[in-house]
Amino acid sequence: MNFRIAPCVAFAGVTALAVMGNSSYAADATPEPALYSHLETFHGNVCAGSIFGARLGIAAKEALKEAGGTGRFTARYYDLSCPVDGIQIDAGTTYGNKALSVQDRDEHRLVLTASKNKRAVEASLTKKAEELGLKSRDLGEKAKALPADSPERVKLEREIEDIYTRLKTAPTDEVVSIALLTASQGRR
Ligand SMILES: [Zn+2]
Repeated sequence: MNFRIAPCVAFAGVTALAVMGNSSYAADATPEPALYSHLETFHGNVCAGSIFGARLGIAAKEALKEAGGTGRFTARYYDLSCPVDGIQIDAGTTYGNKALSVQDRDEHRLVLTASKNKRAVEASLTKKAEELGLKSRDLGEKAKALPADSPERVKLEREIEDIYTRLKTAPTDEVVSIALLTASQGRR
């Protein structure tokens, strides 16, 4: 996949602020607004990538629970970028608690494995989500080239905001694809 999420904040050794325990999500695993405001504080700004991470993390966690995964859940993500922060916020898997590892392979997919019975799920972005992510990045670049507070820039920024809102609130299956993995796939 050659989809690239706009790098906005370098992943700089996250230490504190790991949120543990129950995250808040609605029945269909759509994150609640409180989670996003927490994510914004944690990540330093709002971006498509961190929202993607939150969506992938919650969807994967719910899917693994449904698949009967037992024991502690551990996460592996295959790109070192913004989504990692979203995953840390909501999947209970953080860098600090050693339940998250990252391999920088330029692949936006999350594998969540249940430590006890080794069940595993893979969450990736839908084509639609990728397209919206790319669009928000392109609009952002256009906006940056315009004078601050110019009507054109304000309009673009509103469009970006609308995309973020959609990515935050869309039904899970519009944003995330889930696949059940065999135990050996889970260890990749
Ligand atoms: Zn970001």
